[in-house]
Amino acid sequence: MKIPEWPHPSRLEKTSPAGFESLLSCPLKGFLDTVPSLPAHRVTHPKALIGIVCHDMLRRASVGAYDHIDPSEIKQVLREQFHQKCQHLLLSSVNASQSQRYGSPENWPGYNIRYYRLQASALQTFERRSTNTNRSDMSNVDILAERELKSSNGRLVGRPDRMIYREHGDAIIEDYKTGEIYDGNELRAHIRRQMLLYTFLCVESFDVHNVTFRVIPMNGVVYEENVDLAEAVRFGDSVFDTLDSINTSLLEISRGEKLFNELAQPSAESCAFCPYRNRCDTYWSSMTTSNGSFLDVEGRIDSVSSSSHYTEIRLTSTSSGQSFVISAPITFYDSHLEPSQRIRCIQLRKVGESSTDIFTEVYEDTTIWWSL
Ligand code: SF4
Repeated sequence: MKIPEWPHPSRLEKTSPAGFESLLSCPLKGFLDTVPSLPAHRVTHPKALIGIVCHDMLRRASVGAYDHIDPSEIKQVLREQFHQKCQHLLLSSVNASQSQRYGSPENWPGYNIRYYRLQASALQTFERRSTNTNRSDMSNVDILAERELKSSNGRLVGRPDRMIYREHGDAIIEDYKTGEIYDGNELRAHIRRQMLLYTFLCVESFDVHNVTFRVIPMNGVVYEENVDLAEAVRFGDSVFDTLDSINTSLLEISRGEKLFNELAQPSAESCAFCPYRNRCDTYWSSMTTSNGSFLDVEGRIDSVSSSSHYTEIRLTSTSSGQSFVISAPITFYDSHLEPSQRIRCIQLRKVGESSTDIFTEVYEDTTIWWSL
């Protein structure tokens, strides 16, 4: 891990429904996501890579990419493709240290269970398509798969997974999801916002009067809504106001009137898996994150003690004032660690489960201990 330099605060000319969601949850993260040179610092979990593969294969099943395959061979083809696509992502994610650490995709946590869920869902789509005898009667229908749609001012672009456009201005937009889509009985708020933006793009790109949106989960019940077009247009317009406001901040940063950290908007949901948190001072000064058995904490060292096997660091958190004890094998002991020094611990295991693979780095006046 190397602490990345802040990039040039270039103006955001456009965004996508997913990019807008990222800007809404944290403008700093949303902006950094657009910088091509930064992905090298991203830590991608195998679960995220499997999610990308599942989404891609479901979309392919929905547009008929497997229709030509003999039903007796479909499972084998799906299995092989799943493995090849995971392997390809592994090879192309050289900086995805968590995935690299597990090695071959078969060793990734959740590999088999996610595959079998995908297989069940893809087979359903395959069977539905092979028994659909009406497919020849679709002369008045356009099916657009992953076609890029643009708002009239070019500032919002997006590719719905599939769009079915009928004569007389009727459209159906379909979006495939690999995760949970409901919060109780309601569609999750961020998915609904995406739905409104895809509808807005559809209204801006075609002569439509009626849009039905379908969210198709890998497991569970399909969500369908006849979208209120006026609501979609209002929400679409709000994207441009948000872009304008962030661009004003970026201009102030470029003039030295504001700091990048002032764009940050920490929250438990956004920060937990944020790849930029090692550089984000606002995060460290405002949050201590406990994610499963892992802990992110920044604080001042109260004491350092070593036994023959372990080094134990007691520290007081900058954000909460809570006390923590971090322990690591003695081999990681750094004699430069002293009381009152600032230390940032990234993804360390909580006390009682000593981390075994800690790396040390120094950033300005802060020592960083991080673990995979
Ligand atoms: S760590 Fe949190 S506050 Fe900082 S950039 Fe990431 S999401 Fe934003």
